Amino acid sequence: MPRYDFDMFTIGAGSGGVASSRRAGSYGARVAVCEESRVGGTCVIRGCVPKKLLVYGAQFADAFADAAGFGWTVPVPSFDWPALIDAKDREIERLSQIYRNMLKNSSVELIEGRGLLVDPHTVEVNGRTYTADKILIAAGSHPTVPDVPGIQHVISSNEALDLAELPRRIVIVGGGYIAVEFAGIFNGFGAEVVELIRREELLYGFDNDIRIALAQEMRGRGIEIHARTQVARIEKRDHGYSVYTAIGQEFSAEVVMYATGRKPNTKGLGLPEIGVKTADNGAVVVDEWSCSNVSNIYAVGDVTDRINLTPVAITEGRAVAETLFNNNPIKMDHANVPSAVFSQPPIGAVGLTEEQARRQFGEIDVYCARFKPMKNTLSGREERTVMKLVVDARSDRVLGCHMLGPDAPEILQGLAIAVKCGVSKRMFDETVGIHPSAAEEFVTMREKTVRPTKLAAE
Ligand code: NDP
Repeated sequence: MPRYDFDMFTIGAGSGGVASSRRAGSYGARVAVCEESRVGGTCVIRGCVPKKLLVYGAQFADAFADAAGFGWTVPVPSFDWPALIDAKDREIERLSQIYRNMLKNSSVELIEGRGLLVDPHTVEVNGRTYTADKILIAAGSHPTVPDVPGIQHVISSNEALDLAELPRRIVIVGGGYIAVEFAGIFNGFGAEVVELIRREELLYGFDNDIRIALAQEMRGRGIEIHARTQVARIEKRDHGYSVYTAIGQEFSAEVVMYATGRKPNTKGLGLPEIGVKTADNGAVVVDEWSCSNVSNIYAVGDVTDRINLTPVAITEGRAVAETLFNNNPIKMDHANVPSAVFSQPPIGAVGLTEEQARRQFGEIDVYCARFKPMKNTLSGREERTVMKLVVDARSDRVLGCHMLGPDAPEILQGLAIAVKCGVSKRMFDETVGIHPSAAEEFVTMREKTVRPTKLAAE
């Protein structure tokens, strides 16, 4: 008789939990996963996937507008928001079902309900207890909003994906990934968008040239961005809401959306009761093996608040399964994780920003190209693409690649492999370009951007 009901019990059937459970199942481990919501987690149900579908929808606005320059006559297009939301919902349902089938095909038992840790080897779901040798916490995260008077009136990205009607005017608070992506979505569908950010620039943590260029392009598309703006209160009006700032400005809108960060889903899981250490924001504290301070309890993905991206959760989850059930110890390498922002235009980035590189390496070379993509010549679109390489002046190693412009996420994925391999600038120079493409600019940048190489770190 096995000592426990399962070899591993996973709490949360999102990207990290499903990837880890399936990999463990493929090695013959007896695995169960519990899920209180729909199978698929934030990414599939209320994050990356539905967001990207809306991004695709919004981008048609550009295609219609640009077509005239290429000889097309496009009748005034009309747009049906409920039709898009219905189509998106059907696709999400299909994907959730695929996730269920994938669990089943990997012999992972799905238990529907919220998991509560009773002791380090026991999880309770719907009043029934299950024991397991290892526990994996992959419970994800949820949107958080600050405590501002009237905050009960606002929506988060969860509701923004399911609005019954397209708002004619929306105020979005926040300057991170989610805020800029939704600003682009609503703007693409023709809504008036006002974005309120508390810093000078959007997207803290991204390269400054890219942040500044994105704000310019967003403003060029008609999005109002108000920097250094703090919200003081939100009031309900007959038709919508008024957002008042700390200096007394008023912005009215039909919908007010907050995208001010996310918090790990650890409340009510029973972690302090069984001695699992959490950080101030509730994140499970883990070591490089994703192991908590309780030796049989592991955690991956947003619940650990390391790099909160789906592919990172998947890589962490698979590493845990390899380590525990395949005698193949793997630690995830969190360096040089590429990421993208599906803003309009989008961003792709890998490695260090210029500012980070200066701080860490002192002497760096910077190569920057800013140009009008070929498509924009005939379309008349004024938007510029920005590409940037950050290079260690001593070793010639490329420390960071950054791009703002069409297809940036697609282009950066390939460059991320090169950066991971330790590519030098010379290897970029020796690579033959693909012509005519925007991407070829990355291998034809010869002139260093004239900037002092030893600026004080910001
Ligand atoms: P982010 O942490 O990216 O951004 C939060 C934004 O809200 C920042 O601009 C922050 O400002 C601002 N903010 C925080 N608190 C307040 C406050 N009290 N008042 C006003 N502004 C505030 O969080 P998001 O919610 O945008 O996204 C959450 C995570 O989801 C991301 O970190 C990312 O990991 C992931 N994600 C990834 C995507 C992708 O890969 N394309 C897409 C969407 C989400 P400040 O900079 O001053 O702190």
